[in-house]
Amino acid sequence: MTVLRFESVSKRYSGGHDALIDISFEVGEGEMLFVTGHSGAGKSTLLKLIHLSERPSQGTVMFAGRNLLKVRGGQVSLHRRQVGAVYQDHRLLTDRSVAENVSLPLILRGERRDHIGKRVREVLTRLGLGHRERALPGELSAGEQQRVGIARAIVSEPRLLVADEPTGNLDPALAAEIMSLFASMPERGTSVLVVSHDLPLIRRMRKRVLILDHGKLMDDISPEDLAD
Ligand code: ADP
Ligand code: ADP
Repeated sequence: MTVLRFESVSKRYSGGHDALIDISFEVGEGEMLFVTGHSGAGKSTLLKLIHLSERPSQGTVMFAGRNLLKVRGGQVSLHRRQVGAVYQDHRLLTDRSVAENVSLPLILRGERRDHIGKRVREVLTRLGLGHRERALPGELSAGEQQRVGIARAIVSEPRLLVADEPTGNLDPALAAEIMSLFASMPERGTSVLVVSHDLPLIRRMRKRVLILDHGKLMDDISPEDLAD
């Protein structure tokens, strides 16, 4: 089953700049892959097309069998709930506890309180944060903060987890730990797309890598082809 499919997608911004040119690829259910490339290569634009904060100029983006062109108005927020997002700067609410931050997506979804508490504890325990439930984000280390950001992104069991430079602010050991966490998601059926500049780290993960260069998909490297 394919979760995400780009079919000959191009994006030209209003100023006339071609940010993406004829991009095609697909992501299977439970697959993890990286997207890399220099600054300006089109990585953020690709995420924006998935998130529906931008629309393609040409081509089609399919998500879970649905053409995103047809997702409009109130359906956009429903679509976004199926895409969990992790940011470099984690974007936690600083005046809310860890548990409250992670509860938020479920509250917005109108889930029952007892279900929310149970699910949040389950996810925090899985990410090694069970003992930090009541802490405020400011009381946590950088690695813990990023794990809370990941907990918030996966608590609602999205089809796809999208991470934009998730280890940009972490030292190499913590970055590797966070990447291992992403690598464990596919076991539960969640596909994972990570945008990263960190080539040494990407190499070590031995996952599929898409390379963007000036808006073009230059390479789509399978794990088997990743030689040392
Ligand atoms: P990356 O994330 O790989 O750095 P981006 O997707 O942000 O690349 O940008 C790709 C290209 O599109 C860049 O040349 C950038 O300047 C341009 N671009 C990005 N957003 C806009 C915009 N809103 N309007 C015009 N040009 C843009
Ligand atoms: P920008 O870098 O333009 O400030 P943001 O910081 O809001 O954009 O987010 C980083 C990138 O991740 C943007 O391209 C944004 O559209 C994208 N993004 C945010 N949330 C999601 C999501 N749930 N799924 C996919 N992409 C997302």
